[in-house]
Amino acid sequence: MWRQRLLERGLSPRTVEVYVTDVNALLKWAGHRELCFTQGRAVDLSGRRFGRLTAVEPLAERIPGQRSVLWRCRCDCGKEIKAQANQLLRGYYQSCGCRKAEVLMESNLYVDNTNLKAVLSDTVRKDNTSGHPGVFRKRDKWAARIQYKGKIYSLGCYYRREDAIRARKNAEAWVKDDAERLLEMVNTPKQTG
Ligand SMILES: [Zn+2]
Repeated sequence: MWRQRLLERGLSPRTVEVYVTDVNALLKWAGHRELCFTQGRAVDLSGRRFGRLTAVEPLAERIPGQRSVLWRCRCDCGKEIKAQANQLLRGYYQSCGCRKAEVLMESNLYVDNTNLKAVLSDTVRKDNTSGHPGVFRKRDKWAARIQYKGKIYSLGCYYRREDAIRARKNAEAWVKDDAERLLEMVNTPKQTG
């Protein structure tokens, strides 16, 4: 903040750097700990655990418009993600996302008359004739439909099977997005990873 204010006053980054270094030296001499003005080193999270995540190293990049340091984090499952320090410290992240998927698969979660587990898994019904769920023969065409939140939505009829499948896939993507949002709301992260 202080560094920012100096920059806003029109001082060159180089001058600010010298200034910050001098002030830090003075503080050290006076017996105080250095104030953290050096960018990217505000909080050292190296090796700290956040649920299944372990902070590995701070990155130079930032999310546009965000000042919090991005950390490369490794999940217990082996996957790596980038997470902002402030969000890590607030307990926003508990895993790379694998925990949420597990919770979903363990529970038979119904939201708005919809089984999210069924929506978010890719199982083809055994009585399906097209090889793709929600796509079936209707007279001389292929019809696509999707069931969500207790309603069946017709996605149109197509001469070509692949067009019907494409329509169904688009609808699936939308439904999955919506279901994931619902899951987010009912499954707020807890401290137990
Ligand atoms: Zn993971």
